[in-house]
Amino acid sequence: MPQSNSSPVAPSPRPVAAVVGAGVAGLVSARELALLGYAVTVFDAAAPGGRVGSHTLDGLVLDAGAESFATRTPAVADLAAELGLTVVAPTQSPAWLHAGPGRDLPLPKTGLLGIPGDPTATEVVNALGADAAARAAEDLTTAVDPSLLDGPVTLGRLVRERLGDVALETLVTPVVSGVHSADPDRLDADAIAPGLREALAETGSLCKAAAALRAAAPAGSAVAGVEGGMHRLVEALVEDLERRGVHLPVGTEVTAVSRGEHGGFVVDHATGHRPSGTEAAAGRLQADRLVIATEGPAAVDLLSTAVPALAALRPDEGAGVSLVTLVVDVPELDDAPRGSGLLVAPGSEDVAAKALTHATAKWPWLQREAGPGRHVVRLSYGRLTDEAARLADSDDQTLISAGIKDAATLLGVEFTAADVLASDVVRHGGALPMATPGHRQRLQQIARVLDAEEDLDVVGAWRVGTGLTAVVGSTRKSLRVSVS
Ligand SMILES: Cc1cc2nc3c(=O)[nH]c(=O)nc-3n(C[C@H](O)[C@H](O)[C@H](O)COP(=O)(O)OP(=O)(O)OC[C@H]3O[C@@H](n4cnc5c(N)ncnc54)[C@H](O)[C@@H]3O)c2cc1C
Repeated sequence: MPQSNSSPVAPSPRPVAAVVGAGVAGLVSARELALLGYAVTVFDAAAPGGRVGSHTLDGLVLDAGAESFATRTPAVADLAAELGLTVVAPTQSPAWLHAGPGRDLPLPKTGLLGIPGDPTATEVVNALGADAAARAAEDLTTAVDPSLLDGPVTLGRLVRERLGDVALETLVTPVVSGVHSADPDRLDADAIAPGLREALAETGSLCKAAAALRAAAPAGSAVAGVEGGMHRLVEALVEDLERRGVHLPVGTEVTAVSRGEHGGFVVDHATGHRPSGTEAAAGRLQADRLVIATEGPAAVDLLSTAVPALAALRPDEGAGVSLVTLVVDVPELDDAPRGSGLLVAPGSEDVAAKALTHATAKWPWLQREAGPGRHVVRLSYGRLTDEAARLADSDDQTLISAGIKDAATLLGVEFTAADVLASDVVRHGGALPMATPGHRQRLQQIARVLDAEEDLDVVGAWRVGTGLTAVVGSTRKSLRVSVS
């Protein structure tokens, strides 16, 4: 019998994509690939979200990691709008600096990473004292040493040479260690403050350079959040992916990645935590496209067979941070005595935390949910010194006791364990990419190696810098360019 022209033709199978890591970079990648028609599987060794997640304390659902995003580009706000989320501004209470016992000052406003826009401003002079402020003001009149503009330079050296030791330790280290959990002397200036050295070359002053970069950012609050918390972004992304048929196996670690015999990649994975005597369920996926969205060291290790040239470019392990969250019944905090929170200068011997966020003072939605008298306070403990590292790694009860003592000192309000309604510790090991000197050059070499791999994308904070704005914007851009 002759075949009819109208007989059904089998649809060509959809191309398959695998995404390793379901932090925000991985989830955003999966969405882009699903929109392009790929059948997508996203693997994560833990729960989706990575450094953006939630925990529940005293009935309040709170952020367990990132709690805001920078508004210097519309990347996160655009994504939130597509997902039907409401973007909210924090209250305009200033952030404070704890510079030592009894020395709490509002942070100078018009700067970048704590570098003041004007070293002669009253709040800068108050924070530094007259002598150190005069040293910082030399930045306005002293010629720039050409060696500061050439080759890799740490942010610590840049600030120390232009503004002096006291300005570095009092204003810059608290901000930088709050964001990157590392000392400015270990961080590449170009990697964490892109454009700052170019602006220094143009203006001849580090303060003017910081002010120029700040002025170029959009007006209004420098950060925003999502009604209900940043974790809503992850929940909404996961719901969106599930609607699009994306497969998200929970708790599945990718153990190896190799090139397939006929192109593409073979992704080996194992599900389950392997308590002694139990075998994890192992599986293998053949994928046409691969996105690696893990932390940097894990990405390079996974690609050691498929892209061996990366091995020599493995980034340093990221810095970790331990968060202590307290829900307290302390009505004196209704007046937000320290605005949205404080950063702590490293020399402050009376406090071990590096920062405190008064979350109920910062976010109106949370204040409404908590009601009068009930407050959420979050303290972060990093590893800037050996002693701080020991505390950050100590057991939960030790950290919570330190948190109660530090919170009372920082907020200037007496309270004890009896006022604490609920508390917990969330640990983010290796979470914050370490931008050590030469990091930018290493990233450029990595980009050159990866340019040759057409069916592979490597995304995430370690490639573009800490923060959701960089991660969302760059992930969407690189996926749209590479698959178009
Ligand atoms: C405590 C804290 C507070 C922060 N606060 C803010 C903030 O307020 N605003 C802001 O903009 N940024 C903030 N950041 C930074 C921001 O959260 C991160 O830059 C961003 O979330 C990183 O996203 P990512 O997808 O690149 O990586 P990650 O979120 O680290 O995701 C990587 C994922 O890969 C998974 N993975 C690793 N190896 C494997 C494997 N072999 N198989 C499967 N899965 C694997 C991990 O489990 C993880 O889920 C904060 C970070 C921390 C730690």
